[in-house]
Amino acid sequence: MLIDGRKLAAELGAEVGKRIAALDGTPRLAIVVATTDESTAWYVRSLLRTAERLGIAARRIDLPTDADAATIRAALAVAAADSHGVICQTPLPGGLKLEDVGTAIDPRVDVDGANPVSLGLLASGSAAAFPPATAAAVLRILDHQGVDLTGKRAVVIGRSNVVGKPAALMLLARHATVTICHSRTVNLPAVAREADVLVAAVGRPEMVTADYVKPGAVVIDVGTNATADGGLVGDVDTASVEQVAAAVTPVPGGVGPVTTMLLMDHVVRVAEGR
Ligand code: NAP
Repeated sequence: MLIDGRKLAAELGAEVGKRIAALDGTPRLAIVVATTDESTAWYVRSLLRTAERLGIAARRIDLPTDADAATIRAALAVAAADSHGVICQTPLPGGLKLEDVGTAIDPRVDVDGANPVSLGLLASGSAAAFPPATAAAVLRILDHQGVDLTGKRAVVIGRSNVVGKPAALMLLARHATVTICHSRTVNLPAVAREADVLVAAVGRPEMVTADYVKPGAVVIDVGTNATADGGLVGDVDTASVEQVAAAVTPVPGGVGPVTTMLLMDHVVRVAEGR
């Protein structure tokens, strides 16, 4: 079965829209961009469209593609002082990592978990910071599917600070038994086959085939890989995995739309003072 992320996102959007209508002011989101990367531009346009449709005032702050860490940090700090949510887009110039600049975003408005402090709060079990929206989307989809995570074996392929690690921490907080895999994992398909819940956050087109999947597992595909013809494929070979898994998220139309809507949800939470 394919999991319909667009339908879930529409349901979330209706709920977020009602909460925006009940606010006194307009929630404000700032997106700092220091790249001309085409897939980033596409993603930012889609964020701006969704925000506009919901009634969130979103603005894109463009920085030079050779901006240094101090410049980016200054822009993030200024945006954080004036917004209910701040997002810093990657890739960053000059090999900078998100964690090099993310500390400039006050955790209270760090709606996509870019500040390592937010990840630390998540690791410590605190609800005082936002998880990255993609990791939150993984959990939201599992909840929507009615997956009881307690005592289940969860395998996350990928250990980045923005997806793999926070998704694993959130699964752990929900009492799953979690294994985190990466490029040095030995015999990855065998480890993956232990999973009741398999999360792929790798960035390798259709790497996860049916022989990575235990019959009846739920598979969440976080990957977004551009194809030569301008399309998008995930990290999961959906056609073969669908034959084995109980359910799998497609790409596009799975994790992506839910991620976007949860970002909006986070902005509205800040505006609500929650
Ligand atoms: P990343 O920082 O490049 O991390 C990739 C992870 O995959 C690393 O931990 C890496 O291991 C591991 N890996 C790479 N090749 C592997 C292999 N052959 N076998 C096992 N593990 C392997 O990427 P990311 O930022 O986490 O993103 C992952 C994917 O999710 C990308 O396709 C990205 O575009 C997508 N994404 C989607 C959304 C969304 O909303 N849908 C949001 C963010 C990202 P090492 O640590 O050992 O290098």
